[in-house]
Amino acid sequence: MTGGVCPYCERRCYLAEDGVGFCRMYTWAGGQVVERFPHRYSCTFVNHIETVPFYHFQPGSRTFVLGGAGCNFDCEYCSNAYVARSEPEPLLTYHLSPPRVVELARQYGCHNVAFAINEPTVALPTLLELAHVAQEQGHEAEALEHTVRAVALDRPPLPQLSAGAWQLKERGQEVAAVRVWHEVKAHAAEVARVAQELAGQDRAAMAHLAGSRRAARSG
Ligand code: SF4
Repeated sequence: MTGGVCPYCERRCYLAEDGVGFCRMYTWAGGQVVERFPHRYSCTFVNHIETVPFYHFQPGSRTFVLGGAGCNFDCEYCSNAYVARSEPEPLLTYHLSPPRVVELARQYGCHNVAFAINEPTVALPTLLELAHVAQEQGHEAEALEHTVRAVALDRPPLPQLSAGAWQLKERGQEVAAVRVWHEVKAHAAEVARVAQELAGQDRAAMAHLAGSRRAARSG
């Protein structure tokens, strides 16, 4: 009988051949730790990104939420214990490949995909693969949407920040992408200020011209 230690979380469960650890989401097979239910989810739904919760990043955008089953925590207050602490197999009714998840997210007008409900650690290989595919397939549409919004607001498009870089920004940590974001944002604010100033001058000039015409007509 072979087996090995699961490296995915600090519990470091020993997994026997075909056995399971605390979360019941990994097993030992073929001489390695493998996911028992790759690309399977207990629920899928659409919500606003603020409910994930993820504030101030693409505010108001729709997010395609996925939930799994099993958990490596054992919190007494868990509101999702029915998926976190039950046998995962009967709960994981949705089998969705990464491209299918991206397709569904697009179909429902979602800007992003989030994994909620339970702990992502217990489905890490699946989620890393999904993140890779989503990033590869989603960037173009996201950048285009952002550019369209910038043009509508009459300002230069800001460089895209990934969700991870956004979180660092929100915590006041400066990485290269955040620095560029701040620079371009300051530039865009200056452009908007100058445009407003010019618009004010333009309105004043038009009012003056209109006044002159009225005076000429009455004179
Ligand atoms: S991820 Fe699951 S199997 Fe792996 S160590 Fe943590 S609880 Fe155990």
